[in-house]
Amino acid sequence: MVSIEEALKIISNQPVNLKTETRELSKCPGFSLSEEIRAPFDMPAFDNSAMDGYALCGISKEYNIVGEVAAGDKSDYKLKEGEAVRIFTGASVPENSTAVIMQEKTKVEVSKLILEQVPNEGQCIRRRGGELKKDQLVFEKAYTITPAGIGLIGSLGIEKVEVFKKPKINLITTGNELIEPGKEKAAGQIYESNSYALASACEQYGFSINGKEQIKDDFQAIKSGIRKSLKSSDVLILSGGISVGDYDFVKQALEENGVEELFYKVFQKPGKPLYFGKKADKYIFALPGNPASSLSCFYVYVLPFLYKLSGSQKDGLKQFNVPISHDFENKADRPVFLKANLVNNHVVILNGQGSSMIQSMALGNALVFLNAETSVKKGENVSCLLIS
Ligand code: AMP
Ligand code: MG
Repeated sequence: MVSIEEALKIISNQPVNLKTETRELSKCPGFSLSEEIRAPFDMPAFDNSAMDGYALCGISKEYNIVGEVAAGDKSDYKLKEGEAVRIFTGASVPENSTAVIMQEKTKVEVSKLILEQVPNEGQCIRRRGGELKKDQLVFEKAYTITPAGIGLIGSLGIEKVEVFKKPKINLITTGNELIEPGKEKAAGQIYESNSYALASACEQYGFSINGKEQIKDDFQAIKSGIRKSLKSSDVLILSGGISVGDYDFVKQALEENGVEELFYKVFQKPGKPLYFGKKADKYIFALPGNPASSLSCFYVYVLPFLYKLSGSQKDGLKQFNVPISHDFENKADRPVFLKANLVNNHVVILNGQGSSMIQSMALGNALVFLNAETSVKKGENVSCLLIS
């Protein structure tokens, strides 16, 4: 048995062999860059108008309108003192432009432009290189690409980027009692839900499931399921069958597949029977079957490792220290992750903390961490992982 800190350290200390790939711009959100990106040109690439209005040469209240430049036009105008051109947002401002005036602050009389006030030099002109200079570092290696990041990369004219590959994840659920939702349930059976919850947690954080399988509590079937699944995955996540019951075959099946145990059992509640192992460059998490245990182990242990395997700078869920809205006592002799709700910068521990109870997790948005046999008073800060 290891402590939570030891388990997290073992996970984060694993050497990982990051692989890279080239991805098209539209297919890289959530991926982390395996190269840095520098600006291939000044951004903006040319002085352009920030407004619909007039580009002006000189500081005055009256100008002669000599032409028009729209967005996308190649402007050949060279303005002389006292001249103006009609201009639109994003259009290239002519040479010698002193300022742009928004059209709402002007009056036109035939070809004369009359301003309410004299303009300030440079106003409403977005200068070449005002955002980025050519060769300036835009993104460091390991930057995780956000929608705005995609926008910026696209605006630099880059259509393909080098990113770290994401791990291939396979899911195996085990249990004789489990049947698929939608099927008729017989006495003693329950619906298999962990694979859905785990797959959707993976997807929420940008990881997809490569394959999933449901296996009975049958040692040989589990052993061969693991063997096959390891061939097509980088990370294998198992649920159930990892505790000490007579039908819990996962640990032995992993051993017989040559998987090396990195830790088994964590001093925590829920999720004590958590297992982590490796075989060559493949990693295996065996999560306890209780729905809340398996999902909370995913958030605390699996997700940080998936980030690490995808070359991301993120190391897990956002963690906050937040005041609790009520007194609370952790009577357990182990540290706990409690299903909770963070609202208005206060956190409330929810009813229904059993390992099998997932409703409180579904209605909440956080996991509160408390040490063994610890009391906290209303208003005291507690550590909180944001799960949605
Ligand atoms: P186990 O870890 O196999 O001993 O399972 C612990 C509890 O979790 C039992 O009540 C199981 O029925 C339940 N359970 C195990 N696997 C799943 C699953 N995939 N979906 C929903 N409940 C499960
Ligand atoms: Mg079981």
